Amino acid sequence: MSLQFHGATEGVTGTCHQISFENESILIDCGIFQGKEARDHSELKIDFAISNVKGLVLTHAHIDHVGRLPYLLGAGYTGPIYTSIPTAYLVPEQLIDALKIGFTRNTIMIQTVIKIIKERIVPCKYDQWITVSDTFRIKFHPAGHILGSAFIEVDILSGQGYCITNGMKRRRVVFSGDLGAPYTPILSSPRSPYRADILVLESTYGNRTHKRREGRRTVLLKILKKSLSDNGIVIIPAFAVGRTQELLYELNEIVESGKLPTIPVIVDSPLANRFVKLYSDLNSFWDKESKRRLRRGDDPFLFPGIMSIVNHREHTKVIRRLRKEGGPAIVIAGSGMCTGGRVINYLKNFLSDRRSDIIFIGYQSSGTLGGEILNYRDTNKKSPGYVMIDGKQVRIQAGVHEISGYSAHAGQNDLIRWVKGFRQKPKKIFLVHGEPLAKRVLKKKLNAIGLEVVIAKRKEYSM
Ligand SMILES: [Zn+2]
Repeated sequence: MSLQFHGATEGVTGTCHQISFENESILIDCGIFQGKEARDHSELKIDFAISNVKGLVLTHAHIDHVGRLPYLLGAGYTGPIYTSIPTAYLVPEQLIDALKIGFTRNTIMIQTVIKIIKERIVPCKYDQWITVSDTFRIKFHPAGHILGSAFIEVDILSGQGYCITNGMKRRRVVFSGDLGAPYTPILSSPRSPYRADILVLESTYGNRTHKRREGRRTVLLKILKKSLSDNGIVIIPAFAVGRTQELLYELNEIVESGKLPTIPVIVDSPLANRFVKLYSDLNSFWDKESKRRLRRGDDPFLFPGIMSIVNHREHTKVIRRLRKEGGPAIVIAGSGMCTGGRVINYLKNFLSDRRSDIIFIGYQSSGTLGGEILNYRDTNKKSPGYVMIDGKQVRIQAGVHEISGYSAHAGQNDLIRWVKGFRQKPKKIFLVHGEPLAKRVLKKKLNAIGLEVVIAKRKEYSM
């Protein structure tokens, strides 16, 4: 068998892995590159053989895991697309937006592509084996990262396996996808699978441990109280799917418990608002705590002060009003790493205002605008003190904060705990989806508990 990594080897974007055995293969994810990696891989066309691909398996609906799908179809892929049930709903929604930005404004063309994708999607239940071909079977398990996220067990049904089940030799490869942190609102924590021969593991926070949920809520409240005391604007760049819903869930608790007065909480992202609706519709996939709340009549996405901005006219109006009247106000706008979207206009208008605060609650890839602003804080303000937005210098005068506990990714200790939870430990671990330092640190930690670790490169590994 062989494993090939077509992305997420230099950073955290562009996930696409291929597992092959004899004349068949399957793909795990097909994501786009962002930030620095997007500049290194400006050509998004599929540069690997797909004629023997029997199935595409999507771990979750984030764009860096699904965004190259239209290119895959363009390259002639006509096979099935396996997803969990919630992901089957989230992916088309995510891609409508991606197609608008990256491909075309032609609605008919977009609708045609989305129709094809919907027809090819095979929604799969969690914890059930799905036969993909004579060689491969797959199983989805909840990964606790965003709604519908999954880690995937892949069994190779013949060949030189390590384990004998039902008289057949099977080699098992587990792809972690993106793993969530425990105590993520709305989602259950990921449980470790029984065994793996080979594990492909994400390493986003391989060198960092998060604040616990109680801790991060307290930090959020402290920053909000301080930054709102001078009637400032708090800007929270957030991914449309996952982070925005988690954050609203936490703000709901903060506001409804009276710890913060009712102030405008502006969700300025059409995509995020559509995903809030989808998250609500898919409440049968929520964790116990959230379902209990809903049964009590408390909708986690509805609370005093919340406002959804849908069209561009309202967006401009809100910015004009905030400029004129000031805050206090909390703005949640995409994109999560400030690489585009409406958050850009807020940064243009309020980044140079001392009363403003930016709170990063998600991972900021290097080379993105979010990464640059954070870098300014992390280098003790030694970097230039301004960022370029649409060709213009914008001074960084706002407070810059980061709350890592809101990241939808497992921290270092969560990753290690998850690996330790395998009853039969993987014989080899490939690290993907992390910056070089995160991977090096995590490799050391895993080596220390006796595991063999390879930092995956963009190439083929035969085993
Ligand atoms: Zn993700």
